[in-house]
Amino acid sequence: MRKSWILMSLIIAAVVTAGVLLSASSVADSKKTAEPHKYNIVIITADAMRADMLAANRESEVRTPHLDQLAEEGVNFTRAYCNITTTTPSHATLFSSLYPFDHKAYSNTSRISSKITTLPEILKSHGWHTAGIVNLPWLNSDVSNVPQGIDEFQSCVKIRKADKTNKWVMKFLDRQKGKKQPFFLWVHYIDTHTPYYAPGEYERMYYPKDKDPRAGKSGSLQKAWKMFPKHHQNNPFIDKWLRGITDADYVVATTKGSVSWTDHNVGEMIARLKRNGQWENTIFVFTSDHGESLGEHGLWFLHGGSFEVTARVPLIIRVPGGPKNKRIDELVSLVDIMPTLLTILKIDVPAQARGRDFWESIQSRKLSGGAVLVEHAGAYIISVVTPRYKYIRHRKTKDVYPSYPMKKGKEELYDLEADPKELKNLIKVKPALAKELRKLLADLRSGKKEDFIGEKAKIDEQTEEMLRSLGYTQ
Ligand SMILES: [Zn+2]
Repeated sequence: MRKSWILMSLIIAAVVTAGVLLSASSVADSKKTAEPHKYNIVIITADAMRADMLAANRESEVRTPHLDQLAEEGVNFTRAYCNITTTTPSHATLFSSLYPFDHKAYSNTSRISSKITTLPEILKSHGWHTAGIVNLPWLNSDVSNVPQGIDEFQSCVKIRKADKTNKWVMKFLDRQKGKKQPFFLWVHYIDTHTPYYAPGEYERMYYPKDKDPRAGKSGSLQKAWKMFPKHHQNNPFIDKWLRGITDADYVVATTKGSVSWTDHNVGEMIARLKRNGQWENTIFVFTSDHGESLGEHGLWFLHGGSFEVTARVPLIIRVPGGPKNKRIDELVSLVDIMPTLLTILKIDVPAQARGRDFWESIQSRKLSGGAVLVEHAGAYIISVVTPRYKYIRHRKTKDVYPSYPMKKGKEELYDLEADPKELKNLIKVKPALAKELRKLLADLRSGKKEDFIGEKAKIDEQTEEMLRSLGYTQ
């Protein structure tokens, strides 16, 4: 009986979350006459960075002193999820507050409709100067249209590491110094994505300095190699990255190193904002578009599905004058970011938004548990996360991974509290719960928004080759 009540309250929370944005729109409506807060906004997305790599989440040995400092100056959301575990669709959700089945950008070769209203567009219409820099070609305006509304945009022609990216960012921040006009800045770092980039001291930060990762003929990476998708096993890009390495731990260590390296660069950016006198007027958001599998469930160096390692993302939001050193363990997701930021700025949230404003809830300490939708590219896998459980349904059969074939109709149910590694499928053990979660997932995916027909992205040969080499197309 008690369980039903809990689920009922989850369903109510989900309907609010999924649907109609009751709380956010009513809050925004009540402030229509107010002048917006002219805060600058900086959003960093560190591609493929896992939530458990953030030291402030206390789940790993990785050191992220600058992000920890940011968490001390703001709010750290320990249970933030992406709504789809693929780069382009996830960023489209972040900037539009639409679910993937609304914006229909379901892969890295998708292009969102120009009818969709994006966060930068809204801010621009209220007088913000909008800027952004990305480091994957399929995020470029002419391919994905995700940066719609960004005026000063640095496309990715060649991938820049975080220090090169920062060179442009620093110049941008210096140019904005002293200006009355607020700015919006999106910075996309790629260093935490394969091939993980951990230069200099970061390479061996989490791996013994005297150990040879190329020693031994049948090390752990050789075993892992067999689990790679077939198109990865004969891939020159992967071969160049991992050539000769036999110890998978070394590669995992470089992932960790790439996080510390990214943290260092975030620190430099914050230092510049402080030095320029911009920090006190800047909302700073750090997050990721999805996580990464590092051997869990037999999946290596890829993101997909909806296990915790790929679905959970870091999320820290720092607002001038806002709560400090706060840790929120309730569920939030990337679809909530746009309504939250707009509410902080006292700007109306557009009717298209699926997410909820969670800032008001944090301040009034009434953040409900809610439920979160997570999908795999193309809706091949759909799932719902509640404070305690996760229900997963496979909608297609696709043998992408030898160890993890997608099987149409397959269902999974995990107790995240008792089984955080998601190893024990309870679907047959808890049929009543499964039934309720099926309904909850259906509710989350219901409610038709305007039909945003995505367009076909124009992809040049070089980008096509890169997509193929990273395993995004076959
Ligand atoms: Zn990504």
